[in-house]
Amino acid sequence: MVREGKWSARSVVMEALSRIDAVEGSVHAFLHVDREGALRRAEEIDRAVAEGRDPGPLAGVPVAVKDNISVEGMPLTCGSRILEGYVAPYDATVVRRLREAGAIIIGKTNLDEFAMGSSTEYSAYGPTRNPWDLSRIPGGSSGGSGAAVASGEVPLALGSDTGGSVRCPASFTGVYGLKPSYGLVSRYGLVEFSNSIEVVGALASTSRDLSLLFSVIRNSSSPDPLDQTSVFAPLQDIGGIEGMEFGLLIQTLGKGVDPEVESATYRFADEMKDMGGKVEEVSLPEMGLALPAYYLLVCAEASSNLARYDGIRYGMPAPLDARNWNEAFSTVRGKGFGPEVKRRVMMGSFELSSGYYDAYYLRAVAARKLLREKMLSLFRKYQFLISPTNPVLAPALGEKLSDPLSMYLLDLDTVLANLSGIPALSIPFARARGLPVGIQLMAPPLRDDWLTSVASLLELRGKVELAGEVAEVA
Ligand code: GLN
Repeated sequence: MVREGKWSARSVVMEALSRIDAVEGSVHAFLHVDREGALRRAEEIDRAVAEGRDPGPLAGVPVAVKDNISVEGMPLTCGSRILEGYVAPYDATVVRRLREAGAIIIGKTNLDEFAMGSSTEYSAYGPTRNPWDLSRIPGGSSGGSGAAVASGEVPLALGSDTGGSVRCPASFTGVYGLKPSYGLVSRYGLVEFSNSIEVVGALASTSRDLSLLFSVIRNSSSPDPLDQTSVFAPLQDIGGIEGMEFGLLIQTLGKGVDPEVESATYRFADEMKDMGGKVEEVSLPEMGLALPAYYLLVCAEASSNLARYDGIRYGMPAPLDARNWNEAFSTVRGKGFGPEVKRRVMMGSFELSSGYYDAYYLRAVAARKLLREKMLSLFRKYQFLISPTNPVLAPALGEKLSDPLSMYLLDLDTVLANLSGIPALSIPFARARGLPVGIQLMAPPLRDDWLTSVASLLELRGKVELAGEVAEVA
């Protein structure tokens, strides 16, 4: 509508800002809202349209960006005190692509500190609440992005996914969340937590919005020279799913899984059959290795990546009266990092230390390699794998905080895709007890577009629970 001059970008931005004003008090999805910048940008778009220039495929569309992705001129806190006051000096590649497509960056969304967590409660700036039930978590770590899309503040948001951080909040807040293939979306400008595993991902409330956002941020014709791990793949549409083979991953069902989540997963599988797909149960006996391997690898990488926060180069300054560098370093990190970040830096340093390196880190590396091989061999037979996104519905605020292991268990079904580098999509397929239930669909490496195709076919059949009426924040 903006491209055709039927709506002004300014009015779209005003509408988003007034929705933000109406719901932020209860949801707290944003850490920063850039009103002036967004309105200024909207006026530029409107001018381009008036002058007959092409404003781009996302002209005037407000987009929220997780606060661990650099947006030039905006604060970049990663949800941490240690980066308070730090302003990003450049745009991440994904942000640059959004701007070139005419999108308007509305602001930065809340997250677990440095993206470590599954509830957004580890943010140093207070938790985000689930718009469906304000006493519950929105999932994490991209909980602000999920809640912002679900409560209608913005139609599109960016997140990051190291072990489920896009899919978990998408599932708990009833929106789509895509974790792309490793390398297909540039990580330049994403603050590193576990760089061999994580990706920038997309959240949207409809499959069409998701595909559009993804087509803008992905590397379609060349890799990003600023991210040496990036690859590219041309877009590929599968058309229909007639005759496609789906594997239903049995290790993700059964004991410990909410019965409503389990029955929704079976209903999803039936739906794939109705649409002409072939579905059979498939077993991955090594799946139990995934969560321990994931946590060992990410703690090891985090302990190294977070060493740069020394009170000298970024954010919170080291105390001037410290007697030596060690004291300055310890003081600023002691004050600046929250409990989960400290836990991971300590676990990572421990497992990398001499005598433990072989027993922990190297075994995790071997487990990851094995899991990737097993997944690739499953994909020689199946085009898709189906599982729940999370084993449970959105827990209450505080429910998982006292026991870090129970928080880690929320990622049981999502980490597999990260360890094997494959794409995975959480689809807002069902509702149970008034809460959204996400189903996860996984595909072979670089076949991300197969996932968005299945989502749009399903949505066309009216078989998706779109986040229209959100219970508590009408
Ligand atoms: N919950 C997982 C963790 O804490 C995933 C986080 C993420 O994907 N960034 O590591």
